Amino acid sequence: MTAPRIDIDGVSVSPDHYIAGRRVPSERRFEDRSPLDWTRKLGDFAAGDAETAAQAVSAAADAFPGWSAKSPAERAVYMHRLAELIDANVATLARLECLDMAMLQESLELRVIPRGARNFRAYADLACDYEARAWNSNGTANRVLRMPAGPAVIITPWNAPFMLATWKCAPALAAGNTVVLKPAEWSPITASLLADLVDEAGFPPGVFNVVQGIGEEVGAALVADPRVRRISFTGSPEAARQIGAAAAHNIVPFTAELGGKSPFIVFADADLDAAARKAAGQYDDAGQICLAGTRLLVEQSVRDAFLERMLAYTDEHVAGDSREPGTTLSPLIHPEHLARVHGFVERARAAGDRVLRGGHVTKEGGLWYEPTLIEPRSNEAEIVQHEVFGPVLTLQTFADKDEAVALANGTHYGLAGVVYTGDAARAERIGQRVRAGTVWVNCFLVRDLSAPFGGCGISGIGREGGDYALDFHSDLKTLQILEGSTA
Ligand code: NAD
Repeated sequence: MTAPRIDIDGVSVSPDHYIAGRRVPSERRFEDRSPLDWTRKLGDFAAGDAETAAQAVSAAADAFPGWSAKSPAERAVYMHRLAELIDANVATLARLECLDMAMLQESLELRVIPRGARNFRAYADLACDYEARAWNSNGTANRVLRMPAGPAVIITPWNAPFMLATWKCAPALAAGNTVVLKPAEWSPITASLLADLVDEAGFPPGVFNVVQGIGEEVGAALVADPRVRRISFTGSPEAARQIGAAAAHNIVPFTAELGGKSPFIVFADADLDAAARKAAGQYDDAGQICLAGTRLLVEQSVRDAFLERMLAYTDEHVAGDSREPGTTLSPLIHPEHLARVHGFVERARAAGDRVLRGGHVTKEGGLWYEPTLIEPRSNEAEIVQHEVFGPVLTLQTFADKDEAVALANGTHYGLAGVVYTGDAARAERIGQRVRAGTVWVNCFLVRDLSAPFGGCGISGIGREGGDYALDFHSDLKTLQILEGSTA
């Protein structure tokens, strides 16, 4: 029997899975709490197991022949309908996502949730616009065709859950694959609401499924199922290693968008004020952004001037309830995560790194952490080499461009990079030398859906975004026809 829907701030949310167009319960449940007030339980969600995973993959496999046989334009009709429904529900989705994982409600409402609708529209249209690469050689006419690959498993993390789910599911669906989405157990709500909207949009049963539960249990069972033909994962390198092993076993293409430790390089010729303001902005969302430029690398001659400004901008942050318009600093997602973040800072302090600012829980009982800045002893310090995923930045200096690049490339990560300089030639040269999937010069987080997105090193495998994601979700085929052999 399905579990009763939960009333969360006046919104009805199903705590169950969504499989083959129906709500499916699990006897075991997991608890979801709000980081805005940890005493507040939001609901008990279904904790799927191996049987749930098999059921969801069966639904996706059964729906695949019908969905993949539709033309991109036919699939686009469903996706545009879904985008309209997302647009009509932005305020509700933003409110519940804010309660669930504490990103600022205003930015969810203005930017993050509307981007979900754009993801579906953009991929629906892009799939329709595909122009097969065509050329003649060796007496044959060649064309590259995209064939839908099969059921895709999409696994998402707890930060930006709605945006990431839509960003990853939209290309899979547009390419003709069916989907099983497994959202993170720390923020399960908006995936359940997305399933309601997919249902309302009239997608055929089984084309889109949501399975709730614990990663190591139901997530692991999903990725091990040999019927799954694509795995698209966003999360930590630790989980990626396990998921990648399952993908390798079944010989399934796998993309991984993982953590970051991105450099934020400031040259002496930069607009220091703009750089300092943007550096203080790396604390936004309590630093729980994979792309954040968490390693400030500043040219020695402007270190003090930059630091003074950056600390002044940091002081302007207002920790508070993410639903309030004046708040700029949200709490961390979970007490375990708060303890993890603080553990990094405590170990850095004990090892002799200099804590220049912050380093404490803001208020006992709450999950807010002070914006923290640490000057490490060396580039090998743990605080430099490992992703903290909290409001903790490091400050290092460099003497010249070669040292800047060496420090920037001096971790195993390579998700993004930020460079501030006033010199066009330097912007180009340094932009080319920083090892990262995306480098922003004199800006940050400006995203274009058609650009490739992903990481180097342990920040990931493969690229999503635009045609890259559609290619990933397709089996590319070369069709060669002997010229003159057909009328
Ligand atoms: P996580 O790896 O712990 O979990 C991510 C998802 O994987 C969750 O849904 C979880 O249930 C599932 N999972 C965990 N172990 C699994 C297993 N063995 N098999 C199958 N599924 C499993 O990550 P998190 O703590 O939720 O998210 C934070 C991490 O995500 C950070 O490292 C952050 O940088 C990264 N991230 C990266 C991007 C990007 O685009 N590169 C975007 C957002 C977050």
